[in-house]
Amino acid sequence: MNDIKCTIIQDVLPLYIDEVVSQDTKEMVKEHLQHCDKCQQEYDLMKQDLYLPVEKPSPLFNNISKKFRKKKVMVSIVSVLVTLFITAGAFSYVFYYETVIPYSKSIIRVEMQNDNQLISHYFGKSYASVNETAPMPLEIDGEKKNVSFIFYTETIADSPSRNLINNEKNLNEQEYSWKFADSGKIDAVYYADFDVEKIIAGKDSWDAILKRAELIWEK
Ligand SMILES: [Zn+2]
Repeated sequence: MNDIKCTIIQDVLPLYIDEVVSQDTKEMVKEHLQHCDKCQQEYDLMKQDLYLPVEKPSPLFNNISKKFRKKKVMVSIVSVLVTLFITAGAFSYVFYYETVIPYSKSIIRVEMQNDNQLISHYFGKSYASVNETAPMPLEIDGEKKNVSFIFYTETIADSPSRNLINNEKNLNEQEYSWKFADSGKIDAVYYADFDVEKIIAGKDSWDAILKRAELIWEK
């Protein structure tokens, strides 16, 4: 059996099944099927399916759907990555992103102890870190003073809302004390947000910080 003939046979098989072929064709097909397993199989399959035409998607459609599937996979990978980044970002925001706690007399108090140790108390609900400078000579109203700057920070993780997660301790009752280094030399303590890197980069200066700082303790 040559292939071309098989192709022709298979082309007319539907018509043959539907019995809408001429007597000659009918006999030809019948004869062929007896000798050709391939066409016989095809015939059996067609009969089984009662020759329900199945629409073959065009190659173009195939490509589009393949591309679409690829795109879908890409989209899900991207969304997983985005989710991971957001989670990591939120995590670092909650635990590492520190914001300056605004100065308030009720939560931050600097005092000189009897042993001449200058100490800063923090009575706030949230606390992440304390940032303090060594005393530095600055001119205030024409007078040289050794000034120390201080500020406290908090992270969301340390904020009062953390109590919802961490009920073990009541942060309200906590007090954070900080001993100033070189306290004997300090004339004044100012509360101000400072970034040493900005000062090094020349984007800020201690004099500029002093202007926006709040005096919280003086000898
Ligand atoms: Zn055949």
